[in-house]
Amino acid sequence: MSLVLNAELQDLLESRGPRYTSYPTALMFNTGFGAADFERALQARDAQAPLSLYVHIPYCRSLCYYCACTKIVTRNDARIARYLNALLQEIEWLGRHLGGSRRLQQLHFGGGSPSGLAPEQLGVIMEALHEVVDFEPDEAIAAAIEVDPRTVGGAELRVYRALGFNRISFGVQDFDQQVQSAVNRVQSALHVQRLIESARTLGYRGINADLIYGLPHQTVESFSRTVDTLAAMMPDRIAVYSYAHLPDVFKAQRLIDAHALPTGSRKVELFLAAQERLAAVGYQHIGMDHFSRPGDELAQALADGSLQRNFQGYSTHAGCDIVGLGMSAISQVGAVYAQNVKSDRDYEALVAQGPATERGLQLTPGDLIRRDLIQKLMCRTELDLVAFSAEHGIDFGAYFAHEHGALLRLQALGLLQLSDTRLAITPLGRYFLRPICAVFDAHRAPGATQRYSQAA
Ligand code: SF4
Repeated sequence: MSLVLNAELQDLLESRGPRYTSYPTALMFNTGFGAADFERALQARDAQAPLSLYVHIPYCRSLCYYCACTKIVTRNDARIARYLNALLQEIEWLGRHLGGSRRLQQLHFGGGSPSGLAPEQLGVIMEALHEVVDFEPDEAIAAAIEVDPRTVGGAELRVYRALGFNRISFGVQDFDQQVQSAVNRVQSALHVQRLIESARTLGYRGINADLIYGLPHQTVESFSRTVDTLAAMMPDRIAVYSYAHLPDVFKAQRLIDAHALPTGSRKVELFLAAQERLAAVGYQHIGMDHFSRPGDELAQALADGSLQRNFQGYSTHAGCDIVGLGMSAISQVGAVYAQNVKSDRDYEALVAQGPATERGLQLTPGDLIRRDLIQKLMCRTELDLVAFSAEHGIDFGAYFAHEHGALLRLQALGLLQLSDTRLAITPLGRYFLRPICAVFDAHRAPGATQRYSQAA
């Protein structure tokens, strides 16, 4: 399906809002929730409950000007070594508080730039993790690593695979040389192609590549070339993220020439061109800005209703507690969220004594209902309102009466279909999951858009 958007939908596509990797979003976490609260929540969990771990490696060797990640650009090996020691301390602490050896179903190394570490350093972290959790076998675990293509070759991918990683994600962004220079991230298409081929040969599944639209100097022609080049490499998944220029919030972005940015309808056309070209070569739309090849497990999970969403985006593993390790990492354990401190120095000081929790949130019963609803809307094409009401002991129509008018407006735009018993997201609506879910966000203050990127 080629997308055709009128002016109202174009504005909605470019409106800012949360990506709902959590509900309530991290902006709602508060410092009234601390380390002791998180320890209690962790110890109260069933030792049989499956586990997902996120490991944050914040260091990068050079600065990409568009970057909005929590990262530290450094080549100071001593600083990185101190952080890794702290990470090992946090893993030990986790082992003492898990209440038995838990089954690890999902593992994600993100950053920053995990591939900036030496393979031996990654090996030390993996060894420590094996000491405290039971890894599921290779066919059952999704163990992912985010890779900056500039930092690796086939040899590193082979080592990562031997360490147990079986999912891999490459940050591509754009192949056009003028765009790459303008954002200080230069890497050749040939190198990325070789990496994707190596990953496939080595048995990685769910091979992902990220693109960004809205970068300086991008045109429909240049970005279409990038999309075609990447699609010809046939990664299992492609994400096409929107660049949000917020130089007041993200200092690195002040290095971008704002005059060279495609804005308004010119920017939307970039996404529409990417969507059309991916659809033409068989990529299936999963939700928002994510596409996958039909045989990929995300496409299958969307079809059979088992798709999930967590801090790392879409996944196929349901019901896991998520523990985030490293500075700024977020955990979701039962009805609580906890986030670690955001500087490496503070993190190192705190984990010497216990968890590095800085803030968090205990969800209310109302939050839990809305979290489940938003999770289901993000991951399913339709929702049985009778079953949802029974599951939560509510009458959907009465409970969400306040939201009814907003839903009717989205229905008039063709994004959803609402009846007394069913809420279905249309294929068009799956590009607008953020504004659809925002209808149910009870914490979202009107106008609170400053820190969010655009909707697509
Ligand atoms: S985009 Fe990735 S590699 Fe570049 S500075 Fe940000 S975190 Fe580091």
